[in-house]
Amino acid sequence: MKTIGLIGGMSWQSSLEYYRMINQLTSDRLGGLHSAKIILFSVDFADIAIVQHNDRWSEAAAILIEAAQQLQMAGASLVLLCTNTMHKVADAIEGRISVPFLHIADVTAAAIKAQGLSRVGLLGTKFTMEQDFYRRRLTEKHGLEVLVPQPRDRDTLHQIIYDELCLGAIAPNSRQQVHTICTTLAQAGAEGIILGCTELELLIQQAPVPLFPTTQLHAEAAVKGALAE
Ligand code: GLU
Repeated sequence: MKTIGLIGGMSWQSSLEYYRMINQLTSDRLGGLHSAKIILFSVDFADIAIVQHNDRWSEAAAILIEAAQQLQMAGASLVLLCTNTMHKVADAIEGRISVPFLHIADVTAAAIKAQGLSRVGLLGTKFTMEQDFYRRRLTEKHGLEVLVPQPRDRDTLHQIIYDELCLGAIAPNSRQQVHTICTTLAQAGAEGIILGCTELELLIQQAPVPLFPTTQLHAEAAVKGALAE
């Protein structure tokens, strides 16, 4: 079994899910008392959120490169960045380590294509929905068509993520709002919807079209990689 390195804390609410899912999936695969070999480097999310919202992405990259290198030095054989948004600096991280980096958008695209879908909605932070680092990977590398919510709905999602989900608050009213956003995207032609923020699957598990929960998919890919011969 290989050791999985997690760059977490963004937020710790979803890092907990990674830890739980990776261990559960390992137990399901191997049985008995087996559990996963994991090293977690958890950052202070306040530091990251400040640089994100002030467009100082190179500072965020420096923090996450350091984390990835520490994981590698500690013995991680593969590295996951436990947030969709910070994949904005994924190339910088991947270029500074020599062990495999499991990109969350690649894992998600593979699951979408395995279901034979080609047009999907994307929910996440405004950074993920509005900038091109994530959508371009889905469209150019994987040939998917990506729809994003209207500006007001993007504001709503961003606010729910940072003011509620990253603080551990699960509000029924927000669940209803996100469900309505999913319905609108489905009516606009989305055949499936990416929960492109690692906390969103804590809030919503069902929609009128298939959901692609990125934390679950990323955790599954990690276990597959760790247990591969
Ligand atoms: N966990 C979230 C994501 O997957 C948002 C937190 C962050 O900005 O990293 O994008």
